[in-house]
Amino acid sequence: MNRFQVGSATDTGRVRSVNQDSLLAEPNRYVVADGMGGHKGGEIASALAVEAVVDFPPTGSLDDVVAMVGSANDRVMDYAIEHPEVRGMGTTLCLLVSLSEDQHLAIANVGDSRLYRKDRQGLHRMTRDHSLVESLVRDGRLTVEEAAVHPQRNILTQALGIDRRLQLDVWEVAPQRGDRFVICSDGLHGELSDDAIDQILDVNLSPQDAANELVLAACEAGGRDNVTVVVVDVVDGDDEPESDTDRVVDSRLGETFQSSLAATAAPERSALVSATATPETVLSDGSSSLPPAVTWRVVVFALAVVVVLVGLLSAVVMVGRSGFSVVTDDNDTIVILQGPEDGFLWFEPTIEERSSLTVQDLLPADQANVRQGQEFGSLSEARLYLDYLSTRTIEGSSP
Ligand code: MN
Repeated sequence: MNRFQVGSATDTGRVRSVNQDSLLAEPNRYVVADGMGGHKGGEIASALAVEAVVDFPPTGSLDDVVAMVGSANDRVMDYAIEHPEVRGMGTTLCLLVSLSEDQHLAIANVGDSRLYRKDRQGLHRMTRDHSLVESLVRDGRLTVEEAAVHPQRNILTQALGIDRRLQLDVWEVAPQRGDRFVICSDGLHGELSDDAIDQILDVNLSPQDAANELVLAACEAGGRDNVTVVVVDVVDGDDEPESDTDRVVDSRLGETFQSSLAATAAPERSALVSATATPETVLSDGSSSLPPAVTWRVVVFALAVVVVLVGLLSAVVMVGRSGFSVVTDDNDTIVILQGPEDGFLWFEPTIEERSSLTVQDLLPADQANVRQGQEFGSLSEARLYLDYLSTRTIEGSSP
């Protein structure tokens, strides 16, 4: 049986006027949520997410944890539908919960709050941020140092309260006695380096002292955002490391799920959306600047536009390439052209066949006709005319 000791602390910081972070430090459930959105929206969103975790029945497996995060997402979304004044609010959610089935711990993360684990080897960051800058770092377009000071580092790519479809990261880990887990909002990791966090954890043995000191240090480093920290020590349980490698039992990174099917349109439509949508981007400091989500309507409209354009283009090509004509080229050789003799839009007629006749070989009446150009609907008709001309050459007609 695992036993935990926990400490927690939160502070508005030195710049903000309200604290929009929420935390939970109840037995077996530890949560940090960082709310965003004006008109009290951020405080409400983070509080609703924590409430949903409190109200959720005991979690036995990772599937239960996924459902728990889904219920938190639904709670934030449903509230915003009923209260238009907080439309656009959202929240991060980073949690550590006990699984009743196997004594393991589950970690779930949406947004840019973080969970670290400190053990004998040192401090390990276990979550990845769902933020624009972190995806740019992953793509090699920003360095870690550039990301830390990037003006758009507040832009999240995932958050609760934005869409019924949610991409989240969940893991199951086997805890060991001596493990120390730290869950925090970006008000901590935005002000303190991982090394600075590690040092504070080293010198503060009790989880409550560690949480207090971390929040204080973040405020002293600038306190530009709300700071929230939950420190969870594993004080009982297995103490022999299963292996030196990571003790991750199961993980589902970037899993997308539908938190509430009932609240959306027909299932086939959501299937279309999840196949084509990109993650929504939300601003962690406000409700505005939401780019339009790719909905099935947008997809259907785009397809219709493509169909119409392709239709128009093929009509143009058909006209531009249609018909054949028998004419003379610059050297008076008789040729068959494909396409309107004078061209159409950007289409120039092309020489389809070159005959061995020149216009001088023809009878005068035929010469005039060919110089004028004779048009035919098909290549075989044009060839027939050419054959006809060859039987009427000056040479052929003279005995
Ligand atoms: Mn924050």
